[in-house]
Amino acid sequence: MDLREQIKEAALKLGAYECGFAPTSEIRVSPMVRQLCEKNACGAYNKSWACPPGVGPIDECEARMKAYTTVFMFSTRHELEDSYDFEGMMAGKDAHAAVEPGIYLMLREKLGDDLLILSTEGCKRCKKCTYPDAPCRFPESLHPSIESHGVEVNVLAGSCGIRYHNGKNTVTYHSCVFFNEPSEN
Ligand code: SF4
Repeated sequence: MDLREQIKEAALKLGAYECGFAPTSEIRVSPMVRQLCEKNACGAYNKSWACPPGVGPIDECEARMKAYTTVFMFSTRHELEDSYDFEGMMAGKDAHAAVEPGIYLMLREKLGDDLLILSTEGCKRCKKCTYPDAPCRFPESLHPSIESHGVEVNVLAGSCGIRYHNGKNTVTYHSCVFFNEPSEN
């Protein structure tokens, strides 16, 4: 089994619903995604180093992603009572966060530590974020949101061959791991 298949099989065993790969050359950043961040619907804009403007200008974000050859995206899928089930959405987000560490550990074991990880929404790790007065306390585990880098998540999911939505009364969350593909693969 080649490395990609090993990673996919392991991620599914560790709780991913779907997963896949795309070359970073296919990624197109969109200023419109950043403009949506600025509207602050999620309440995370300008609150931590994980979101704009703390992540830096969009061209820096694009260069950060494209410093790697390949992106691995995985999703988790969660049932909701109905489309207004906010508690269910938050529980789904917590369940996604619970799946992430095992997958990141597996990827580090297979690919090494030189990874860029993008996840969901902002960072709430510290009671009071250092932003914007001092550097992040935990830069090694800071995982900015995918949208913060100007990426249209639905488009990237399509490039990776996975779904953005998974049907009525469900919510799907996505995370991305950028890495340099070993040359033998
Ligand atoms: S880890 Fe702490 S300091 Fe760093 S972005 Fe998150 S909340 Fe802020």
